[in-house]
Amino acid sequence: MRCLCKQKETKELKVEGDVGADPIWCNRCNGNLEIEEVPISLGLKSELRKWIANYGEWIDWDKDEIVTNGIKLEDEHNNQGYILTKQVQKEMGIPYKVSFSPSTFARRYANEK
Ligand SMILES: [Zn+2]
Repeated sequence: MRCLCKQKETKELKVEGDVGADPIWCNRCNGNLEIEEVPISLGLKSELRKWIANYGEWIDWDKDEIVTNGIKLEDEHNNQGYILTKQVQKEMGIPYKVSFSPSTFARRYANEK
């Protein structure tokens, strides 16, 4: 797995959703990792791809605001992401450390209102 870290190999990963990105990142340099290079099962890769494809379904991109039920949608997406993160950690095992970085867009938006 390549990222921007000096040693070119990371053991600290995070799962985070973003538009047009791969779901796994280096937790040190924030480099987006090629999901193909991550040593996890094809089934889990496909689950992660589906998960990230749904990222932002709580956002109305045209109006730049959240949709009705946006907070609920974001919470569900975060719960799913958390479960997937556990699976990634399980498959990769020690010495990897995989954490989850939840989306806070809808919550922040609601608080600003
Ligand atoms: Zn890195």
